[in-house]
Amino acid sequence: MNNSQKFDIAVIGAGIAGLVCAQELQKAGYSVVVLEKSRGVGGRMATRRVSGSRADHGVRYLEPTGKFLQQLINNLKSQKNSPDVEPILELWTDKIYELTQPQRPLLPITKNCYIAPQGMNSVGKFLAQGLDIWFSRRVQTMQPIAEKNWCLTLEITNDAATEKPTEVIAKAVVLAIPAPQTLMILEKPVAEIQPEFLNHLRFVEYDPCISVMAGYSPALQKNLPEWRAIAFPNDDYLDWVGVDSSKRLHPTQPVFVIQSSAKFATTYLDIPDLQPVGKELLEYTAQKLLPWLSNPEWLQVHRWRYAFCRQALSVSCLTTEMPLPLVGAGDWCGGNNIEGAFASGLAAANWLSQMGVE
Ligand SMILES: Cc1cc2nc3c(=O)[nH]c(=O)nc-3n(C[C@H](O)[C@H](O)[C@H](O)COP(=O)(O)OP(=O)(O)OC[C@H]3O[C@@H](n4cnc5c(N)ncnc54)[C@H](O)[C@@H]3O)c2cc1C
Repeated sequence: MNNSQKFDIAVIGAGIAGLVCAQELQKAGYSVVVLEKSRGVGGRMATRRVSGSRADHGVRYLEPTGKFLQQLINNLKSQKNSPDVEPILELWTDKIYELTQPQRPLLPITKNCYIAPQGMNSVGKFLAQGLDIWFSRRVQTMQPIAEKNWCLTLEITNDAATEKPTEVIAKAVVLAIPAPQTLMILEKPVAEIQPEFLNHLRFVEYDPCISVMAGYSPALQKNLPEWRAIAFPNDDYLDWVGVDSSKRLHPTQPVFVIQSSAKFATTYLDIPDLQPVGKELLEYTAQKLLPWLSNPEWLQVHRWRYAFCRQALSVSCLTTEMPLPLVGAGDWCGGNNIEGAFASGLAAANWLSQMGVE
């Protein structure tokens, strides 16, 4: 096998920003590869399959907060995974609740929340169509080489995925990953990146989040609450509790997704075994909301080290031509949510197209 392959542009990260950017660049006629360290697309718009059920442990729903998400939602409502099944996206609820203080009544908040019955990662799968994506490839270093090319070295993150090369040569690179992860690649001494570019990256800050997924006996289906989701804006432990199985067309068991506050996640961020931490969060939720939540049939815990961008840059993408074309994009540029990631991916593609990668 040839251990290196050439492209016009390499996009690092198959989250929303990377996928949108890669599609635009491919449409403009460039040869594009997307390099992704995990085994799937969507990034933080993630779904896990557990015990025959699915759980959205990242993005909870889509809301038409801006023009790009409005367009995407309209598009996905009319798209189907296959001719006989449901649309990719559906309205889940027009009301979620907030619990602002203990012992206070639940406060209804009206908003249209759209979900994917097959899991929120269906949105990423839709945006990934037609792209050349190399999974299980973590970009470790990038450095300029002869003939105005970048050389990217890739670590294989899954032993079974050996079919693709471990090096990519490209004329331009888009880093569509959180700013701290961008720094990890660019701060390696070989990169020769301008100090100002790195300083912008250092300005960006993220909050972490711990997500707990819990599945319950099917017999408890009749005990499900009337609410679909509750947000906890002022809680030290909790940020969000959602009845995730209510997103599915034919749920086989009750599934809850519980997402921690940034404060809780920061306390436990580097702990090696997250299972007891997940149990603690579940126990707390059970005491607050429904006692039977403390006895799940299964429990899984996921750590999001870079969950929500707390301090974003005011530019829609971060660019430099020195030593070679390089763009940073994602929810840390412009906005701090999916709408922002979408807009940033487009801005990165526009910048490269206007500059003309040759
Ligand atoms: C629990 C949770 C709930 C959320 N809820 C909402 C919500 O309701 N509404 C909302 O608007 N936003 C929400 N967000 C935020 C939203 O998920 C992000 O703003 C958005 O998805 C960011 O997209 P992105 O493409 O910028 O980055 P990401 O989705 O993080 O994509 C980056 C991709 O790059 C890959 N990657 C990283 N480093 C490397 C490397 N070195 N080599 C190769 N690949 C790499 C990652 O695996 C990932 O797939 C939530 C986030 C979390 C964690």
